[in-house]
Amino acid sequence: MAETASVHSFHYSGRDLFCEDVSLAALAKKHGTPLYVYSQATLTGHFTKLDKALAPLPHLVCFAMKSNSNLAVIRTLADLGSGFDTVSAGEIQRVIAAGGDPRKCVFAGVGKTEEEITFALRQDIYSFNVESEAELKRISKVAVKLKKIAPVAVRVNPNVDAGTHAKITTGTYDNKFGIAFEQIGDVYARAAKLPNLRLRGLQMHIGSQLTDVTPFRKAVEKVVPLVTELNARHGFDFFSIGGGIGIVYDPALASGEAKWWKTPEGKKVLTPQIYADALVPLLKPLGLRILLEPGRFITGNAGVLVTRVEFIKKTGKKNFVIVDAAMNDLIRPAFYDSYHEIVPLTKKGGALVSSDVVGPICESGDFFAKDRPLAKVGEGDHLALLSAGAYGSVMGSTYNSRPLAAEVLVHGKKSAVVRRRQPVADIWRDEALTPWQ
Ligand SMILES: *Cc1c(COP(=O)(O)O)cnc(C)c1O
Repeated sequence: MAETASVHSFHYSGRDLFCEDVSLAALAKKHGTPLYVYSQATLTGHFTKLDKALAPLPHLVCFAMKSNSNLAVIRTLADLGSGFDTVSAGEIQRVIAAGGDPRKCVFAGVGKTEEEITFALRQDIYSFNVESEAELKRISKVAVKLKKIAPVAVRVNPNVDAGTHAKITTGTYDNKFGIAFEQIGDVYARAAKLPNLRLRGLQMHIGSQLTDVTPFRKAVEKVVPLVTELNARHGFDFFSIGGGIGIVYDPALASGEAKWWKTPEGKKVLTPQIYADALVPLLKPLGLRILLEPGRFITGNAGVLVTRVEFIKKTGKKNFVIVDAAMNDLIRPAFYDSYHEIVPLTKKGGALVSSDVVGPICESGDFFAKDRPLAKVGEGDHLALLSAGAYGSVMGSTYNSRPLAAEVLVHGKKSAVVRRRQPVADIWRDEALTPWQ
């Protein structure tokens, strides 16, 4: 299958940047900035590409909603038949609030509380992805109390290095996730003796932002024999191979055509078809339902953060572009040293200027780009930080008493506010003075 199609729906028409058929400058004018804008066509396109590539297998794509949990995003994916990978009772409640089906939710995370387990059991979720033996015991205890059978899958740590950033590598023995490969058989044997558990499958997730299929293939190759053995013993329904499919963050949109499938050096990156071609032959003989937990792959390129230039400040050799978005709106550069392509909403001619794009927060970590060749911009111009749809607004905070940004979803010519800009007084709404003040 040729995968040359552009990968997201942000493009220039004339000099102006559009999301689908809507001008981003018009949205910025109408809703103010900082403003997250999401493309429904991109969300749908990515989900569908992956879903189709996996068609040779019985499967369920469980969107990892921690990457973007806006109700309208959840609803878009729920309407396509997506399940959800959740990490808290709050996320399961969000699925319900969006009109999704909790029976298509898996519940992951190393620290599930009794209250969360109780809630999830009452909602008849598809499976708990269990991270420790203590958690198996806790789930069993709660299930006995509720007179329910809890579906569980243990997360195996295959000890395969995903080779990504240390903060997003999860599949080696240096981190807190899952149970060591060598111990899994014994853990299942003990779990089988606990009351009210149904050993429904096995789960793994080796890390995030993988742009090469090799670690996925290695992990699946290593774990498939274990799944076969455990399935024979316990009668599984599914094997979850986790999420982690990476995206390209620097696709040179400026060239006029989004080259999402290629790095700037022209190297082809991970596509749903490459992923499926490598993994389907390994997984098919299992005869099990395969679960996937993609987050970033679905939402990453589907969103941008629009921001306004407040000041240009020149100090020494540096040209600082001070914008009205900050690390509280998008923390990825500060947190993971992430790269986001930055483009003007209205294309400019002239030479590029090496610029540091920074926010107004009193932290030197509050930057979006350093020494970046950027079109010359001035006060009042607008910029878009691309590929901000995953781990963007969901990691937003009100640090510096800055309200959470507004979010808009675009669908063709239509656009709708899917989160209004937080009114500033809401930031301290739940605070109080003491009785002695
Ligand atoms: C974060 C996470 C995912 C999603 O990761 P992406 O890189 O966004 O695809 C999937 N599964 C688990 C268990 C996770 O923790």
